[in-house]
Amino acid sequence: MFKFGDYVTKLINSASHEREFNPIFVKKTHQLKVYFLGTGTSQGIPIIGIDHEVCKSTDFKDKRLRVSAWISWEDHSYVIDCGPDFRQQMLSSNCRKLDGILFTHEHADHTAGLDDIRPFNFKQGAMPIYAHKRVLANIEQRFDYIFKTVDRYPGAPSVKTFEIENNQPFAIGNKIAIPVSVWHGNLQVFGFRIDDFAYLTDVKTIDEEEIAKLKGLKVLVVNALREQPHDTHFNLQEALDFIALLKPEKAYLTHISHMLGFHEEVQKKLPKNVFLAYDNLEITI
Ligand SMILES: [Zn+2]
Ligand SMILES: [Zn+2]
Repeated sequence: MFKFGDYVTKLINSASHEREFNPIFVKKTHQLKVYFLGTGTSQGIPIIGIDHEVCKSTDFKDKRLRVSAWISWEDHSYVIDCGPDFRQQMLSSNCRKLDGILFTHEHADHTAGLDDIRPFNFKQGAMPIYAHKRVLANIEQRFDYIFKTVDRYPGAPSVKTFEIENNQPFAIGNKIAIPVSVWHGNLQVFGFRIDDFAYLTDVKTIDEEEIAKLKGLKVLVVNALREQPHDTHFNLQEALDFIALLKPEKAYLTHISHMLGFHEEVQKKLPKNVFLAYDNLEITI
């Protein structure tokens, strides 16, 4: 019988070995494309009505929409989170098809764009959404009209809910998403590992047993808010310590506040395998 637990262990153990076995003539068919749709913290950058120098920067890398990422491979296409900038992000990335949304948690900067799935609904039908039971209940409360079955408005968005049960891996297309449970202050949040890529946002602490799921990564995306400490988010030093512990080949920082500073200056201070993500950056894994 196929056991997800064994699969995860095998995946973790084989991750570094598989990398060595990759002759140039083998066509890579399962490469993941990760497109950073947004890399900003909850207010985005620039912030409404603020004269901070970073908010006034003309560098496009200092303009940050609310955090989200688009993951695609072959003809499969998923986003992680669906914040208030979702519509703009789908337009600027030219995303034409979406097979599902994986939610990290219920905060508005990660969920408030859900109404804008309608163009996908009209083309594809109900949108699969994957989340913790608590997050699904929260979404149902916030967007009650989406879940209405009686006297439903015909143009309302529609979703198909999938609960991420007991922290168990689940199928997305022909791949497996491994949920990684982390803490955002007192709030449980899911990060996700897909192949040798992991995406974690809004992390402040992590249980020891979850760390094993993050071994042998090629790319880790993790949040780094600013230099000053914060109660519910990694600051820059905590994110760098976390990266040093996990030793991914490369790491990208996201969920960034204007208080972290100018993109170009912060990037110069980072270790050589650590990069500040920016909006519309696309990487291949
Ligand atoms: Zn957030
Ligand atoms: Zn949050």
